[in-house]
Amino acid sequence: MTWKEAIIEILRQNNAAMHYLDITEKIVEQHLVSFSGKTPHNTVSNTLTTTIKKFGSESPFVYFGDAIYGLNGSSNEILNNDESTEQKFVEGSQKTVYVNRYERNAKARKECLEHYGHKCWVCGFDFEQTYGKDIGKGFIHVHHIVELASIGSEYEVNPITDLIPLCPNCHAMVHRKVPAMSPQELKKKLT
Ligand SMILES: [Zn+2]
Ligand SMILES: [Zn+2]
Repeated sequence: MTWKEAIIEILRQNNAAMHYLDITEKIVEQHLVSFSGKTPHNTVSNTLTTTIKKFGSESPFVYFGDAIYGLNGSSNEILNNDESTEQKFVEGSQKTVYVNRYERNAKARKECLEHYGHKCWVCGFDFEQTYGKDIGKGFIHVHHIVELASIGSEYEVNPITDLIPLCPNCHAMVHRKVPAMSPQELKKKLT
């Protein structure tokens, strides 16, 4: 895997923008790239900057300021419907919005997973168990139960009641209905 591919992979897993040092930490932790004697964070930083410089708006990466990078386009889907929060928080610069959102999401996601673990809440799928520690560890989607469009801007995410870990299959299935089905409802449909 190239550094560029590894960065894309980590940002996909995280489903939200990240500080490049956190991206580096994850790449090293998951052994996504084999390297020796280098300073990986410099390589990650250089890869991000040169890719953005070279491809501009076609680049897979977007820079949000303050060393925070995300994926271009829809891949930042973390707490699903995040776009609506973003709209509501637009006060001041785009940069502030994204950084706040990043911090909020990363913290909420972490607390949710500390509570529920990394298995899919609906089907019990465990990425680490199936695919191994190397690539499976820490991978899971986090679904936002409350429809963000229906709540106010003062809303604080409760990581236990509002978020739930789902595998990509179950995550796609709850979103087959609009508004999304509850995880409980989907669990009942499991045959
Ligand atoms: Zn599942
Ligand atoms: Zn979702």
